[in-house]
Amino acid sequence: MNKRWTIGKIKEFVEKNSDSKLLTTEYHGFSQKLLFKCSCGTNFEKTFTKFKNNNQRKCDVCQPPKESR
Ligand SMILES: [Zn+2]
Repeated sequence: MNKRWTIGKIKEFVEKNSDSKLLTTEYHGFSQKLLFKCSCGTNFEKTFTKFKNNNQRKCDVCQPPKESR
């Protein structure tokens, strides 16, 4: 939780742990929405917390936000 994330580390994490790419070049904190590019070519915005902790690592088309059962 106290781990300091830099834009470089986030980019690395994104590339290693997903098919998406990070387009944002500056990181200001957990509440900031970062811009990603999904492997399908769609850009999407998400906070890094959601991306990492909630496993939301694709755009809303490939991975719809609602988890209905
Ligand atoms: Zn997608």
